[in-house]
Amino acid sequence: MSIAKQILSIQNDLAHTHAKLIAVTKTRSIDELNLTYDAGILDFGENRVQELVEKQAILPKDIRWHQIGHLQTNKVKYIAPFVHLIHTVDSLKLLMEINQQAIKNNRIIKCLFQMYIAQEETKFGLLPNELYEILENPILAELKNIQIVGLMGMASFTEDTNQISKEFTSLAQLLHHLKSNQTGIQLGNIAWDELSMGMSSDYLLAAELGSTLVRVGSAIYGARE
Ligand SMILES: *Cc1c(COP(=O)(O)O)cnc(C)c1O
Repeated sequence: MSIAKQILSIQNDLAHTHAKLIAVTKTRSIDELNLTYDAGILDFGENRVQELVEKQAILPKDIRWHQIGHLQTNKVKYIAPFVHLIHTVDSLKLLMEINQQAIKNNRIIKCLFQMYIAQEETKFGLLPNELYEILENPILAELKNIQIVGLMGMASFTEDTNQISKEFTSLAQLLHHLKSNQTGIQLGNIAWDELSMGMSSDYLLAAELGSTLVRVGSAIYGARE
């Protein structure tokens, strides 16, 4: 099936949910990205900074670029001028650097905290107590050029739908808890609106469990090399 048809079919699946489709374009060619843009998608996700920067330079300027891969502090400066949303904040140090670079570019950069929800040791992310430690740090309120807008997580790499469902549910509940303000943490630069979860194999499940941003690659373009 063509890229446009796959996108239409995924958007159809998601129509009854609150999830928006992010096309994960890592490793895909400029031609494939152009076809994606022509199909009406404006949200593109990349996991490597260099690839993201190279593609951003050539593609239409109204594309919203999402950094979805692990981000090293020393790479923030390359994406700071234009990045739409950084999904993978996992430390206060990284957040402070994003704020510094946002100031330099005279912008406010939106971020998600990446939470560790899988049962694998290979995945990045924060545990809830580590998140609360960051949220309770007085430095956070001073970071005026970042805006925290929600949470991101990656489920275990498994066919066990129950397990995936449990992991997504735990993330959705954490967001709900933060949003409900039972935590007493209320800062001008935080809004708990977005939940980035779900990929090609589980986007519908994620969307039904409250995802607002699904990150889908191979279901649009086929398997990666
Ligand atoms: C590659 C990637 C995706 C998309 O994976 P698919 O299985 O191809 O849909 C989603 N999120 C992250 C963080 C990724 O690195």
